[in-house]
Amino acid sequence: MHRPEIMHPTHPASHPHNASPHGQTPPLRLIAWEITRSCNLACQHCRAEAHEEPYPGELSTAEAKALIDTFPETGNPVIIFTGGEPLMRKDIFELVPYARAKGLRCVMGTNGTRIDADMAARIKESGIQRCSISIDGPDAPSHDDFRGVPGAFEASLAGIEELKKAGVEFQINTTVTKHNMPFFKKVFHLAEDIGAAAWHIFLLVPTGRGDAIRNEIINAQEYEEVLNWFYDFRKTTSMHLKATCAPHYYRIMRQRAREEGIKVNMDNFGLDAMTRGCLGGTGFCFISHTGQVQPCGFLELDCGQIKTTRFPDIWTSSPQFLALRDQSSYEGKCGVCEYHKVCGGCRARAHTMKGHYLKEEPLCTYIPRAVDNQAPTDKQEEKG
Ligand code: SF4
Ligand code: SF4
Repeated sequence: MHRPEIMHPTHPASHPHNASPHGQTPPLRLIAWEITRSCNLACQHCRAEAHEEPYPGELSTAEAKALIDTFPETGNPVIIFTGGEPLMRKDIFELVPYARAKGLRCVMGTNGTRIDADMAARIKESGIQRCSISIDGPDAPSHDDFRGVPGAFEASLAGIEELKKAGVEFQINTTVTKHNMPFFKKVFHLAEDIGAAAWHIFLLVPTGRGDAIRNEIINAQEYEEVLNWFYDFRKTTSMHLKATCAPHYYRIMRQRAREEGIKVNMDNFGLDAMTRGCLGGTGFCFISHTGQVQPCGFLELDCGQIKTTRFPDIWTSSPQFLALRDQSSYEGKCGVCEYHKVCGGCRARAHTMKGHYLKEEPLCTYIPRAVDNQAPTDKQEEKG
């Protein structure tokens, strides 16, 4: 049975990479749809800088259903209902069955704090196949501090217990920061102990409220260490581990596998052998609460507005999506890297830390072969 993967509420999941060698539009594999921006928490790293009050301009139920009608034209995407907190949206249990009736697989990114027995039963009944819940520390002090809401840890765990009782699969998402790096293995053990189907790690992207905690971003060398550690850790558990929005994990995975004499194929690495690090604009996109289409939730490029342009046309023709599908448009070392097709670098970090989404990934230590032999990279130039 295919198990739907959820990344972050705003990020892509593991899916085969979709290069479009002949200029054809790649199939859309995954849509993160911010059905509301309202949220009951105020997390420090929140991209949306969400608050509890309703936001103006949210799609109406009729507009949301009309949008769902167009999704099958783009492929057979998995829909991540996300927010803000998606359970704050009053018609959520109307929209999910509507999408299910179109044959679309539906998952949900929630903070879990609003899930009681009744809510869990409604989630199950609506056809949601998996919920992802963010846990960023192994205990209440570390998690609540990061989330900015006392009691969030206990409330999320209570929500998870209700999902388990209702028979809804769940995964844990954890954002790696300097703050929680020392507790990282403990978070993993927590996820395993409570019976998560998967544990996905994310690297902080400094946008939204996250911009204020730039100094929480681990550096390129620490990033490399975390991803190497993750590669080894994978071997010790049956829980599915996935490095999400840490695109160069897929470079490190291949480097390590080569050192170990292991082939990178489905038998040895499952879907990780087929996916691309950053799928923004190539197999994944984000739709905001007002209908703005973006490569991902952390990369606020206006690629089109579904209230004025049909969504499938945006997916096919947005200039930004076309650029993201064309390696020659990438700058710096990501443009010439031999791992480009499996990695691509984080376009959101390039945008916020380097000034443009097509610049090179700022947190990668790798020097591509072509750069090693030729001109200096941006980084080397900066060092002078
Ligand atoms: S741009 Fe970065 S945050 Fe966005 S999908 Fe790609 S890797 Fe993830
Ligand atoms: S240089 Fe860019 S494409 Fe190559 S591994 Fe690093 S981030 Fe990925």
